[in-house]
Amino acid sequence: MNAVSSKWLASIQIPDPIVLSVVIPVYNERPVLPILYERLRRVLDPLQIAYELVMVDDGSRDGSGQYLVDLATAASSVKAVRLSRNFGKEAALTAGLAQAEGEAVIVLDADLQDPPELIPDMLQAWRAGADVVCMRRRSRAGETAFKKLSAHLFYRLLNRISDVDIPADTGDFRLMSRQAVDAINQLPERNRYMKGLFAWVGLPTHFIEYDRAPRAAGASKWDFLGLLTLAFEGITSFSIAPLRLSMGAGVITALAGIVFGLWIAVKTLILGNPVQGYPSLISIMTVLGGVQLISIGLLGEYVGKAYFEAKQRPVYLIRDVVHNRALRHESSPEKSQFHVASR
Ligand code: UDP
Ligand code: MG
Repeated sequence: MNAVSSKWLASIQIPDPIVLSVVIPVYNERPVLPILYERLRRVLDPLQIAYELVMVDDGSRDGSGQYLVDLATAASSVKAVRLSRNFGKEAALTAGLAQAEGEAVIVLDADLQDPPELIPDMLQAWRAGADVVCMRRRSRAGETAFKKLSAHLFYRLLNRISDVDIPADTGDFRLMSRQAVDAINQLPERNRYMKGLFAWVGLPTHFIEYDRAPRAAGASKWDFLGLLTLAFEGITSFSIAPLRLSMGAGVITALAGIVFGLWIAVKTLILGNPVQGYPSLISIMTVLGGVQLISIGLLGEYVGKAYFEAKQRPVYLIRDVVHNRALRHESSPEKSQFHVASR
């Protein structure tokens, strides 16, 4: 090989394969983003590995999206993925995982409740052979006793009635190997209850305990109703026990009705028939009506789920991916498709 061509060869920069991707869903987090980026860099740069930050803007309205685009234009380690509108955290995570290229992928909240300083420990556990490194909260600082109790009860219930085992006190904060991420990316369902999907994958899992910090800035995007919906979503996505429950309720009320009827017959035979029972009639009717409506509603929930799955509509739509490493800025609508391959 002559001197010229070896010099030329040396000048081509073949990018190292990415070891770590950090996937971060972002929705109206503008005030924390600079702090988040600083803290991530302070942790990741000394590790001397090729990493990327996949920041997914979930249709923010406070300029977070533009900030990420600017960041991605300036820093080659940042990949800004903008969704076309707000699709919800689960969809944003799905988009981020599909874009992540790393051998290990960490999922992290933008609000710094999941401390980036734990990343080296997570990587160590992964290198020691774990496919999933699941972060378990030791404390839930800044959360009300009510939220703690309801979360506890919810996981107990869900694990009882479904065949996946979602560890209590874990969130989305975790590391996953390429194998685990590929598995998640292949799951076809549109109802993305991420914690359930993570648990479904299984694989050797290592747990690390940590103290969950309070939000760095801004407010939680969840209100009580939102959490209740998510809980219901989790249960109906992973279990058909509620359908059986309504079946059980039907059997019990039918049996109770027969016993009550027999009792009335016996009473009439012994005591004659003074016309009575208007209040009991009304209460039985309303209770039965309620049980029936609840059962129909529950059935409707599953039929509705099947309906949405049948539509095969994508979980999210990408507006653009800005990534300076490849020096390209995609923004044509034709390219903004489900699972746009990372390039
Ligand atoms: N998030 C999102 N889309 C949404 C709501 C939230 O991407 O529609 C992101 C949010 O920016 C944050 C993470 O999901 O990074 C967790 O949200 P939040 O802190 O509000 O939830 P909590 O910590 O209270 O469970
Ligand atoms: Mg939070």
